[in-house]
Amino acid sequence: MPKLSNRITGIMPSGKDGWEVHFAALTRKQAGEPILMLSVGDHDFDTPEGTVDACIDALRSGKHHYIQLPGLPRLRSALAKMTEECTRTETAAEEIIVTQGGQGALFAACQATLDVGDHAIVVAPYYATYPGTIRAAGATLTEVTARPELGFAPDPKDIEAAIRPETRLLMINSPNNPTGAVYSREMIEAIADICRRHDLWLLSDEVYWTLAAGREHVSPRSLPGMKERTLVVNSLSKSHGMTGWRLGWLTAPAEVILKLINLNIVSSYGMADFISHAAVAAVEKRYGVDEIADRYKARRKIFMDALEGAENIVIRGSEGAMYVMLDVSAIEPDAETFAWALLDAEQIAALPGTSFGEAAQGHLRFSMCQEEHLLKTAAERIRRFAKNYV
Ligand code: PLP
Repeated sequence: MPKLSNRITGIMPSGKDGWEVHFAALTRKQAGEPILMLSVGDHDFDTPEGTVDACIDALRSGKHHYIQLPGLPRLRSALAKMTEECTRTETAAEEIIVTQGGQGALFAACQATLDVGDHAIVVAPYYATYPGTIRAAGATLTEVTARPELGFAPDPKDIEAAIRPETRLLMINSPNNPTGAVYSREMIEAIADICRRHDLWLLSDEVYWTLAAGREHVSPRSLPGMKERTLVVNSLSKSHGMTGWRLGWLTAPAEVILKLINLNIVSSYGMADFISHAAVAAVEKRYGVDEIADRYKARRKIFMDALEGAENIVIRGSEGAMYVMLDVSAIEPDAETFAWALLDAEQIAALPGTSFGEAAQGHLRFSMCQEEHLLKTAAERIRRFAKNYV
């Protein structure tokens, strides 16, 4: 076989990322073992009926064709309106590009801002694809460790210290995957200040904005001088129960969106016609949004309440999103070892924190994507397991 490009082989250089626990658990579950899957951030329920009906109507009414780039005009308008709600900033349809999920928006944002040899900063722990998405643009990265003892908030001084002459982009995510941390207004202001002073792009991943669980969601886009340097990644996956539909969007200055049309042309040539029409209905009618937000808020509470006072476990962060991060470092410094042992002994699948960067070593991420009674059972088993861990 002729040589592959360095770009493609460099995206995920190690090949080992902690997800082995999840895949082993999945195989065992498929073979009939009663494994409680708390490893992935995908809903255990289907997309709201209103959205499904809108998709079927769109299919039956001939929505089968190429659509305008960078997205169906009515969908861009609907997403602009929702972005105004999310970011509390005036937003025009021209500032929106529809992408293949939030991941497509992350990819587009990195392609738009990073050249080969440039440098980006990510706050760790982070959503697992961040480093690969940066490397796919030919850039390098530095991880800045959020502090577990501060509920996984980063120290702005650490971010500033990581800046180099070739740094172009800083990536943040609040509410956060994997920790569930929701950044305070002061934190977002401090980060925005760094970006303005060092002339950086700020990629703000806000895919969990509806899951802030009563805390204030602050988008850096709303702060003075930030609209022209902020790229907001968003998606209907989590907020609207639509993970498998692959519907996301990037909000950016209109000049950036115009350039990204070219990327759209040479990569996906846009989204599916009928899915775009279903997404218009989902956004305009807010199908499922409040129910899903309430459900995850209640689930996190059930899980955390059941772990209250547990020996050898500390709950870190977890103010929002659909995750709870547990610190088990007092009994097991190696998160992967603990995850395998928990799977074998208690038939619970969780992701070792190291799947999200070294910053979360000694931690495990539990997703709340199971029914309430199963989450309670899982918490009780984890409690027992941690108490007797040797
Ligand atoms: N950003 C974060 C923080 C995520 O957790 C995810 C998915 O889990 C994504 C982006 C990607 O979203 P999507 O599934 O819409 O591609």
